[in-house]
Formats: sequence, C-alpha cells, structure tokens
Amino acid sequence: MWTLVVNCGSSSLKFALLRPDTPDVPLAGLAERLGTDAASVRVDRAGERVTVPLPGGGYPEAFGVVLAELGALDLREQVGAVGHRVVHGGDLFSAPALLTPEVLDAVRACVPLAPLHNPANIAGIEAAQAAFGDVPHVAVFDTAFHQTMPEVAYRYAVPESWYRQHGVRRYGFHGTSHAYVAGEAARMLDRPLEDLNLVTAHLGNGASVCAVAGGRSADSSMGLTPLEGLVMGTRSGDVDPGLHDFIAREAGLSLTQVTAALNKESGLLGLSGLSNDMRELEEAAGRGHAGARLAVEVFVYRLAKTVAGMAVALGRLDGLVFTGGIGENSAAVRSATLERLGLLGFHLDAEANARAVRGQGGVITTPESLPALVVNTNEERMIARETAQLVARGL
Ligand code: ADP
Repeated sequence: MWTLVVNCGSSSLKFALLRPDTPDVPLAGLAERLGTDAASVRVDRAGERVTVPLPGGGYPEAFGVVLAELGALDLREQVGAVGHRVVHGGDLFSAPALLTPEVLDAVRACVPLAPLHNPANIAGIEAAQAAFGDVPHVAVFDTAFHQTMPEVAYRYAVPESWYRQHGVRRYGFHGTSHAYVAGEAARMLDRPLEDLNLVTAHLGNGASVCAVAGGRSADSSMGLTPLEGLVMGTRSGDVDPGLHDFIAREAGLSLTQVTAALNKESGLLGLSGLSNDMRELEEAAGRGHAGARLAVEVFVYRLAKTVAGMAVALGRLDGLVFTGGIGENSAAVRSATLERLGLLGFHLDAEANARAVRGQGGVITTPESLPALVVNTNEERMIARETAQLVARGL
C-alpha cells in the first residue's frame, strides 16, 4: 500500500508518496506561495523535476496537481491512505489518530495552542479529504511522542489555574523525528531500543533536544510553544521571562511585536546580524566575521548545556544522536558540542566526524567513548509507517 504523506504550512504543501519500509519515493513535491499570484507546485518524479505554475491556487488546486500526477504515473488507485503531519495535539493525543469528524474537532480545539500551525493543518486535511475521499486519513502529531513526559518535566512553576484552565504546560515538538532517529540509532548500535537511554538533538531551522528513555520521551527542550529551549535559526530559545515586559517598555513594543521578534528576528540571525543559516555562518566565521562566530558559539554552548541537562532526565546516558540539517551536515557544530561534553564521556573520532556529512550517518566517537551518532531523519517515512500501522489495525 502506498501512503501519501502531507505537511501543510500556512502557504505551502509538502507531499511525498511512499511505502513504510521501502526506500523508493515515486512522487514528491512542494507547493509554495499558495493563495498568491506566484503560487506554484514543484513536482519530483523519478529523477525528473518540473514546476507547475498555479496562480491564485490554494490547497484544493495543489491537490488537483497531486491527483493528476498520480494519474499520470498510474498510481492513483494504489494510494491506500493519507498521513497528515499535525503540529499540536495538546494533551488530547498521545498517538496517531484516524481523522474522523470528532478527531478533526479535537484538532480544532488545539488551535489556541498553535494559532499559526493548526489552522493550516486543518485546511490541508479538509482539502485532502475532498480530493481523496475514498481512503482513510490519519493525523500524526508532533507533540504525541512527548505525552510520556512525567509531570515533573512538563509542569511549569506558574499558577495552577493556568495549567488547569488554559493548558499551560510543556508539550514538546519534533516528536516524529526524535522517535524515528532513536529507533534508527538503536539499529545502528545493534542494541534493543527498550534498553537504551538516548539524547536526540534535532538541529534544523527549528531545533530541540529530547531525552528518550527506552524509546519513550522523558523530556523535551521545547515547551508550550516551539520557542522554548535551544538557540534556533530565527528563534531565541530560552530567555528570561522578565524580558518581555522590560523590552516592551524600553523599546516601546507591543507584546505581539516582542513575540514576533523572538520568533523571527532572534536566534542565529539575531546574534550574528547576518543570517539564520548555519552553513553561511560557518563560512562567515571562517572569514573572521565576529557576529557569525559568536552565533555559532552560543548555539553550541546552549546545545551542550541542554544535552547535559537531559542526562538528568535519563539517569543513565547511553548515547547522543545528531540529526536535522545542522546535525547531519555540520561536522564543526558536532565536534565543538562533543568537546564541551567531554565530562559526560564523549571523545570525538575526528575522521569519522568529517566523513558523516551529506547523508552519511554513523558513529562519530572513538571505541572507548560514550557513542555519539549522526542519523538522517526521515519524518515522511515515519508518518507513512505510523499511518500504515494505524490503518492496518483499524481494518
Ligand atoms: P528545517 O528545519 O527547515 O527542515 P533543515 O533540517 O533542512 O531545516 O536544516 C537547515 C539548517 O541546516 C540550516 O541552518 C543550514 O545551514 C544547515 N545546513 C545544511 N547543510 C549544512 C552544512 N553542510 N553545514 C552546516 N550547516 C548546514
């Protein structure tokens, strides 16, 4: 059975057609700038890439292109399910869910927790259900994996009524990726996942660290929103909660403007004054750009500090996993992070680390070291797997 995996952003739609356990992806693509005159769909089919202009088109028109492409490949009838990435499931979902009208209502109930993401996910689900009315649709939540976090990890020290009445607690995100790479790491280490206590570091434009105890999330660096925790591309990560009031008064900003600046103008971009892109910053730092060097150093310092903190959540640490665009490609970030984590027992194998780029995963530490690994994440495959499993159980 083929699964169509769908990830809808506010003006984008990413899609891929795959089977849970075979590597081939006969059709994939990305629709961008939906709802504008510049809307288009990039389609990747078996080594060939085409861009279809879609002026003024939205999700329904983009799904029209997907349907036409599936028809041309003679695969329309083979699509057995559609798996949707949904950002926030609150504390309502600890596993993927078949998208019944009741489940869609529950996803709607989580909109206040993710006002930018969940409405786009919902609009995408509705358009996909209209286009693919004859197959089951499944929601796979970014937050679900972290529902196993103990209360000591997910509660904030704030008035209890905020938690009870408004759901103010830590949820964690990137769950699909953390779950996937933990499983892959266990396979690469040839040890049962149930026996492993891992810290997984998903380092992309968004970045989070997860404590994975025996395959279950025990803590996440992200909290109520994906703004908490590590330094990210344009997100600040942790700041003093007193900052909001201080900078609002000093700079004459509204709370909305402060939140927007912490999400869009901070992180690597804010620190460097140059870019949110790690590769660009590494090149600029190499040329002596002071802001770029500082941005990379703060990123690494905060990452190492957070990984060490996660060891507390696990009690015993068996390994560290790097993934995401930065984790999979930046040998420099990995080496600087492990240098700071020497006290936990990590010793870098510099040659192995240099080799682990562009899709080459593997162990990057010496044989006597606590293992650190590079694992390529594959959220689409994980969503396809979870969707297929749920559909198989339900039928
Ligand atoms: P997203 O979270 O948007 O999916 P990615 O996981 O693709 O992002 O990660 C993007 C980040 O990965 C960017 O900061 C980019 O610079 C970084 N990256 C990609 N390749 C390299 C590289 N060779 N060296 C350093 N950083 C890299």
